[in-house]
Amino acid sequence: SVPAALASGLSAGARRGLLIKGGAALEAIGAATTVAFDKTGTLTEGRPTVTDLLPAPGTSEAELLALAAAVEQGSSHPLARAVVAAAEARGLATPPASGQGAVPGKGVVATVGGRRVSVGSPRHAAEGGAELGALAEAVARLEAEGKTAVVVLDENAVRGVLALRDEPRGDAAEGILALSRLGIHSVMLTGDNARTGAAIAKALGLEAKAELLPADKLREIAALRSAGTVVMVGDGINDAPALAAASVGVAMGGGTDVALEAADAAVLRDRVSGVAELVGLSRSTLANVR
Ligand code: ADP
Ligand code: MG
Repeated sequence: SVPAALASGLSAGARRGLLIKGGAALEAIGAATTVAFDKTGTLTEGRPTVTDLLPAPGTSEAELLALAAAVEQGSSHPLARAVVAAAEARGLATPPASGQGAVPGKGVVATVGGRRVSVGSPRHAAEGGAELGALAEAVARLEAEGKTAVVVLDENAVRGVLALRDEPRGDAAEGILALSRLGIHSVMLTGDNARTGAAIAKALGLEAKAELLPADKLREIAALRSAGTVVMVGDGINDAPALAAASVGVAMGGGTDVALEAADAAVLRDRVSGVAELVGLSRSTLANVR
């Protein structure tokens, strides 16, 4: 019977850590034409580390890192945690900071020693009129290596650049190849800059859409939906609206409760390959139902 075939498909999935919240979700996953992935924490580990310190003339590496850590303290963004951890690892004393605030998709700002200090994307710094000078070339090189470069501004003076790297998950390329073998197109959505996004996407074998603010991600999903059935995969940090906007939202990994609630399905372990397995399971279950 139909209910029995559905139930056996859902429970076969559950045994493999693949959760599907009912028949409608299963049907939509089986019909998927496009999978959109969040980058940070979904295709990548979500634990960036500081790889390069490029102070401007007159600033030391230690001063640059301590200043950045002072501003990032109190933010739970993965980039912020990496900067604070790097300063701690070097035993640096961070100057006292107050009034920390985030500019979503752009960076953070705080008051340090009576001055307005910010850490954020090179694009955001340039929009504010900051001159990167000789550091612009270094930023381009770091981004082409798939690293995220952030600029530290003291008022509007550039104090230096930090680069961070977030490693792709071990099975990310394999998981995207498995989707393409199922005839499914994969896209990465990221707030990161275009060069970094392109470098990572090239290594993983999917299309990149970069420099997206949260509202842009929703617009991209709506545009993809007008052409097919879209699965959105996210780890939960800021992803709940995107998961809800897709035909089907899939939460990956331990994730957050918010993501699990907003999602229609979940891959319980941090495995990108689990997404193709979800599609395969849905298709074979539907074949038994019909
Ligand atoms: P993602 O889509 O990869 O999760 P976000 O939208 O969180 O990216 O951030 C986009 C960009 O904004 C980052 O690549 C970085 O340049 C900048 N940014 C955001 N938050 C911070 C932060 N706490 N410190 C420094 N830069 C940040
Ligand atoms: Mg994420």
